[in-house]
Amino acid sequence: QAKNAGKSQFKTFSAEMFEDLMIKSRLKTALKTALENNEVQVYFQPIFAIEDGSIVGFEALCRWFHPEYGAVRPDIFIALAEETGDVVEIDRFVLTETVKKLHKLQGQNTRLFGTVNFCPLDFEQPDLVDYLDNVLTRYPLTENRLEIEVTERSMINESGNTNINLLLEELEKLGVKIAIDDFGTGYSALSYVKSYREFISKIKVDRLFVRDIEQDSADVALVSSIISMAKGLDMTVVAEGIETVQQQDLLANLGCQYGQGYLISKPLPIDEFCQLVASQKVQDNVSFI
Ligand code: C2E
Ligand code: MG
Ligand code: MG
Ligand code: MG
Repeated sequence: QAKNAGKSQFKTFSAEMFEDLMIKSRLKTALKTALENNEVQVYFQPIFAIEDGSIVGFEALCRWFHPEYGAVRPDIFIALAEETGDVVEIDRFVLTETVKKLHKLQGQNTRLFGTVNFCPLDFEQPDLVDYLDNVLTRYPLTENRLEIEVTERSMINESGNTNINLLLEELEKLGVKIAIDDFGTGYSALSYVKSYREFISKIKVDRLFVRDIEQDSADVALVSSIISMAKGLDMTVVAEGIETVQQQDLLANLGCQYGQGYLISKPLPIDEFCQLVASQKVQDNVSFI
């Protein structure tokens, strides 16, 4: 019920209002019970082949529908949840829902991959590998369909408690690969790419480099060098934030493999995402007749 109330109100608070310390601390308290009150939902945004726009996978993104504040943006509440530690439970919920759905979709003969977002705190949990092992035992995946998106922040190992290399090896054994998120916006990204290259399957180019790519030759230069770097390292590239056909075409010409953005679809409730995939399959069949 709370969930529906949150959705129907849909009043979006401005960023400044969330700067309000009072609201922040209220949100932090509300986060503690958000999951058990079913206020957190998992949305899937399609990842598509740049060539023809066909859906090849998705990114799982969470949404919080607060009964009073309405839809709270993840940029705001994930940062708060990192401060309180609640992010671990939220990310595991998103992960479990994603694996469940991937398990179901593979039974329907689709070959989609799915990615989830992790933050440094997730990587610092000593039981992370056990948790993943458990989920993947309950909902086995026949191919390496699950990927974890991390930013360079997770590779730095701030606390010094985690042996990142060992952890990535364990994840690899479970068939889980790494995608580098928001590539190009952090620090010394290249050294992490070098250190962990064998575990990284995808580089996600931040929206910042895609937005003005038609006008800005610097963006073209940067994106095409990221693409050639990725090719040389046997990784694929996902361009984030594609909003126009012109951007898609330009990226196709640069040899970019995958894209994500409002052009194809916004993040969707899981059922709507599955309908979109199903309608695409029907279209594919029609074109073969
Ligand atoms: P991100 O991982 O880089 O996710 C991509 C963001 O870009 C999403 O915002 C998505 O809705 C947005 N986006 C996609 N295509 C377009 C486009 O064409 N135009 C524009 N303007 N935006 C586009 P969202 O869902 O608001 O998430 C924001 C950030 O919050 C994410 O950035 C991620 O860092 C974090 N986040 C979201 N869900 C989770 C989660 O379950 N766990 C964790 N730890 N972080 C999450
Ligand atoms: Mg992401
Ligand atoms: Mg991203
Ligand atoms: Mg981003």
